[in-house]
Amino acid sequence: MFLAGVMAIQSELKKQLKNRFSDRVRFDEPMTAHTTFRVGGAADAFITVSDESELTYLITCLKENNLPFFIIGGGTNLLVKDQGIRGVVICLTKGLAKISQHGAITLSALAGASLSALCRFAIKRGLSGLNFALGIPGTVGGAIRMNAGAGNGDMSDVLESIRIIGPDGNIETVDKTGLTFSYRDLSFADENCRELSSSVILEGRFSLSHQRPEFLKAEADALLNARKKSQPTGFASAGCFFKNPENRESAGKLIDLAGGKGFRVGDAAVSEKHANFIVNRGRATAEDILRLMNIVQEAVFKKFNIMLEPEVKIVGD
Ligand SMILES: Cc1cc2nc3c(=O)[nH]c(=O)nc-3n(C[C@H](O)[C@H](O)[C@H](O)COP(=O)(O)OP(=O)(O)OC[C@H]3O[C@@H](n4cnc5c(N)ncnc54)[C@H](O)[C@@H]3O)c2cc1C
Repeated sequence: MFLAGVMAIQSELKKQLKNRFSDRVRFDEPMTAHTTFRVGGAADAFITVSDESELTYLITCLKENNLPFFIIGGGTNLLVKDQGIRGVVICLTKGLAKISQHGAITLSALAGASLSALCRFAIKRGLSGLNFALGIPGTVGGAIRMNAGAGNGDMSDVLESIRIIGPDGNIETVDKTGLTFSYRDLSFADENCRELSSSVILEGRFSLSHQRPEFLKAEADALLNARKKSQPTGFASAGCFFKNPENRESAGKLIDLAGGKGFRVGDAAVSEKHANFIVNRGRATAEDILRLMNIVQEAVFKKFNIMLEPEVKIVGD
């Protein structure tokens, strides 16, 4: 969705966007306000769409004007660089948030719905399968894109299909068999090398199983308590910063053993509570976080010969 050498948004197009989206379009919008890391420069434009037809209109219009776009969900897994984002950031959380039940065990949720709202909806209806996602902040669309998960499951366990809007504005449904799930990532499984990153996820459908709501509620409380005990609260972050390497100790354990707890650059610090969390203690910049990321990577590499890869999406200039 990003292009090199992107043009600034011309004043004629600015007028057109203003006419269509009114106060739902903002120019030079600081991304600090839209990410849980609370860092990042401004996006050229930030537009909140209110429904699918607006989204289709916007994608077509941006294509005609050769402007890139970036979809933001809850901004909970993003590190936006200090020079910000060229092109248009599209936000789905206001208009595309409906959650519905279909038949006995199937739920659907539009991409902008909050993931925790979907989990609670399932618990109330006695539908089991989504409790692993409790406490993972952000949206359904972001969780599908990231194949979000925890020790006890991930989105691939419950996702049945997704509805997407492609780069040309065409809407299609892709079954689970057409998707490849990997650790914190999702891609198309087809042979045409289509990039999922140039499509927008509109909706997910989830296949669950029956369970008593009281049981699900008790399980949910236990999971949320365990999360509270192990994760830092009170500081801005994007959750676990690095992916866990395959067949090795967790990234957090490796960072801890490499002496990384408490490493700091400016206001960016490795959490003392959970070494895979980089926290913003107040005034960190994206540059501080990136420098700290390199320091942590070097320390782990030196001790274990393992190069940790960021799980957080680093975007912008
Ligand atoms: C305190 C904390 C705890 C966390 N714990 C966990 C955890 O236990 N497990 C875990 O997996 N993650 C965890 N995370 C990370 C994050 O919450 C998840 O990755 C989440 O699913 C991201 O959702 P989002 O809506 O915020 O996506 P964003 O951060 O907004 O976006 C993430 C990526 O998804 C893309 N995207 C978003 N919506 C769409 C869409 N509709 N169509 C196409 N692409 C889209 C974006 O372009 C971006 O590339 C945690 C984060 C925090 C802050």
